Amino acid sequence: DGSPLHWPARSYDKLHGGLLADGFDEGSCHSRYQSAMYRRNAGRKPSAYLVSKLRQHEALQRRCGPGTVAYSNALEQLRSGKSGDIGSQDCKYLVSISYRGVGNRILATASAFMYALLTGRVLLVDPSNELGELFCEPFPDTTWLLPPAFPLTSYTNFSLDTVESYGNMLKNKVLRTDIGDVPAAAQLPVFAYIHLDHDATQEDKFFYCDEDQSLLRDIPWLVMRTDCYIVPGLYLDTGFREELARLFPEPDTVFHHLGRYLFHPSNHVWGLITRYYDAYLATAQRRVGIQVRVFGKQPNSPALLEQITKCTQRHGLLPKLLTGTDDTVMPSAPSRKSTAVLVTSLKSWYSEKLKSMYWENAAITGDAVSVNQPSQEGHQHFGAKSHDAKAWAEIYLLSLTDTLVTTAWSTFGYVAQGFGGLRPWVMYRPENDSVVPDPPCGRDVSMDPCFHAPPFYDCRLKHGADTGKIVPQVKHCIDMSWGLKLV
Ligand code: GDP
Repeated sequence: DGSPLHWPARSYDKLHGGLLADGFDEGSCHSRYQSAMYRRNAGRKPSAYLVSKLRQHEALQRRCGPGTVAYSNALEQLRSGKSGDIGSQDCKYLVSISYRGVGNRILATASAFMYALLTGRVLLVDPSNELGELFCEPFPDTTWLLPPAFPLTSYTNFSLDTVESYGNMLKNKVLRTDIGDVPAAAQLPVFAYIHLDHDATQEDKFFYCDEDQSLLRDIPWLVMRTDCYIVPGLYLDTGFREELARLFPEPDTVFHHLGRYLFHPSNHVWGLITRYYDAYLATAQRRVGIQVRVFGKQPNSPALLEQITKCTQRHGLLPKLLTGTDDTVMPSAPSRKSTAVLVTSLKSWYSEKLKSMYWENAAITGDAVSVNQPSQEGHQHFGAKSHDAKAWAEIYLLSLTDTLVTTAWSTFGYVAQGFGGLRPWVMYRPENDSVVPDPPCGRDVSMDPCFHAPPFYDCRLKHGADTGKIVPQVKHCIDMSWGLKLV
């Protein structure tokens, strides 16, 4: 059977088709090379071009990363505030600030990496939100964590109002794209802050236009903050499109590959994942993941429970139940098939109800259905280590299931579906908490995450536009009508 306990009876590709570099020290990060044996769904194959580009990028990270002469020089340049002769500097940097929940942070970091890959920048991540505790280093023989004593001392507070933001520099005409020629490198600032948060303005979102990218290209340091998955926006930039098409002949796999490449659970989190998987999921014939995202102070909701059962039973994800009090109401014969349901939620109520339902009533199919939930944290905490480790472990466990049901609008679910290579069933967001949406859920159009704060502007025509209609790879999301996703 597929249990990793029986490894190495089943062959698996620990490098995911060349996506991962060989030769890392295994002890410092067990998940990196063990993850393939926990995945029944081996996922899609990365293109040979992506694989070679990743190896090139790793070389860049080593050549320019912390501890190198190039890095000291670039820091010196940043301290001096003078952009100088940038042509002679071949190391340019992107510092990524991610925040909010674990799902948001993963999508933000993957987005920053995509941009770094496209623009040949070294990616460094702000370590203040536990990226170093939750994940292993992704690049061999160097670090992606921004070292302490970074000269822009208040960078973690950069926000909408920061005067050095690209949007504000455009607004204040410190930078201009309307005067024809791109300015000489010496006239450019040494750094710019790229604000691509949910509250980004139209000017900030000019980032997704070609001319703006030509300007940004020569700025040695960029600091980016986002809480979104901005990759569908990068497809709107004509300058990136050809390269993206070569890297990802299947556009719906961008996060699938980048996620599996970048995010390896640290040993502590890997322990949480593998112990749970081996105890509760490994021996079942079928695994169904149900992500029940409870936002804010939403009380236990019978309507949401009904939405879950309707969705899973209508689409054959879980068996229907035989109901009635008569003892003769029994399936004709036990099927000996087992389904393990993994529920993740801040609340325990939903999984307890499901568990009783499948104990007190027989499944029409006679299948044995077990329902388990790893943690019930009650509510969302910020900056709590063990809380974040559990969230990350649960996202990963969901990605190891065969069938996935997610909650609309949640980045937690997006990450699970992308890692798992699963096109989920999305439970629609109800207009009113006491009414079950009809239909309760729908099959997502792709496994790639939804971009929640896209631009609504056609860069070429220079006016507002429906950005879900500009390129065939970018469509609107089924769970958030204004969002964009790759298909
Ligand atoms: P989103 O807010 O749904 O887009 O997802 P995020 O992961 O960005 O933020 C939600 C945060 O709430 C998570 O990172 C967790 O800290 C917490 N959380 C929400 N749902 C769950 C859950 O099912 N399990 C656990 N352990 N934490 C959760």
